[in-house]
Amino acid sequence: MLLVHADHVVPGDGPPIADGAVLVDDAAKGAVIDVGPAVELAPRAAGARVERIRGVVLPGLVNAHAHLELSGLRGQITGGRGFVDWVERLVATRHEARPEEDEAALDAALEELDAFGTAAVGEVTNSLAVAERLAARGLAGVLFHEVFGTSRDAVMARVRGLEEEIEERLARRSPDLRYAPAAHTLYTTHPDAVRAIVEHARARGLRTSLHLAEHPAERRALEHGDGPIPEWLARRVKKGAMELEWPKASPFAYADALGALGPHVLLVHLTDARAEELALVAARGAYVVLCPRSNLHIEGMLPPLNAVLRAGIEPALGTDSLASNASLDVLAEARALADRFPNVRPVDLVRMATWNGARALGLEDAGVGRIAKGARPGLVAVEGAIGPADDPCKFVLANVKTRRRWLVRRAVRVERGHAS
Ligand SMILES: [Zn+2]
Repeated sequence: MLLVHADHVVPGDGPPIADGAVLVDDAAKGAVIDVGPAVELAPRAAGARVERIRGVVLPGLVNAHAHLELSGLRGQITGGRGFVDWVERLVATRHEARPEEDEAALDAALEELDAFGTAAVGEVTNSLAVAERLAARGLAGVLFHEVFGTSRDAVMARVRGLEEEIEERLARRSPDLRYAPAAHTLYTTHPDAVRAIVEHARARGLRTSLHLAEHPAERRALEHGDGPIPEWLARRVKKGAMELEWPKASPFAYADALGALGPHVLLVHLTDARAEELALVAARGAYVVLCPRSNLHIEGMLPPLNAVLRAGIEPALGTDSLASNASLDVLAEARALADRFPNVRPVDLVRMATWNGARALGLEDAGVGRIAKGARPGLVAVEGAIGPADDPCKFVLANVKTRRRWLVRRAVRVERGHAS
């Protein structure tokens, strides 16, 4: 057994514990036996190795929305001029990139995730290039296999192909790494495909993902059928392949009509969401991921965090890709929100980067995102001088640049017969 005794323990799903401790079965397996005040746990830990941490211990982090495949584009895609300008630059730059360089960037991105103390990731993938690497590193998470296409027959064939592929992938998955097709957006994926993908996820108890209300241009396209998005699609989509009609409805009303507001869908961004729309999201039980630094980079906008919280939504956080962000550190997202929403409690922001992320990805049973009995979250230390009366979550957010250290890595669960 290992007893981690820290100035503060932040469980992720509950209030911090001053002079706290975590009893772990052993450093190799990493299952939490108990968590609580050190004075209560220490007497039960006879014979355990004790590690005394000056600073804060928290669970491995959950980055609920990333595109690791774009990691080769770090620092190359200028933002600030809106989504269409950004995505055009992305496409042009991506065509110039060499795949072997992307491989190195992918490895570097995984190193970075690990160095920041990340235990789980919601990864939106186009090529599945990252799947084996995530499994090899023991990361938990969901691979959202992204589907685009405005031509109905072509995109439906793609969806059916991915649904079949699932059988094969599920057979040799790591049990803590899930896989589901996901529609890109309501303006790049034919509505029949969105419906089919969502229904597929619902029927199988999977979580799918959808970028929604990322920017005002999306609302304008869906509500009025004009503006930068239809103009961009007219340039990009081959003649005859544009079979997507503008619904003349808000992003949320349209998503709802397609069945895409519900507890099996993870809605990404909601930057352009209004209070009554957030109330609808909350009523439908959909999960939400906010990506504030990406929104700031691309649009110069922040997600409406206060309105999100007032609606009763418990958002997760994601970094989005290195094509629109400076790092893959989900705690830096929490810090970005702390700086701009000083009314939001630090403990709630840390929860967004841990337990809310695990719930948003449907990974509660994978034991990630919280330090709780029986969980295997991995334990991360943020070290430094902190007093017993100081707020440990405020300390963590103030020290996002401090090097984090894995005390106990998340134990990898391997299904019998499927060890890789
Ligand atoms: Zn994204």
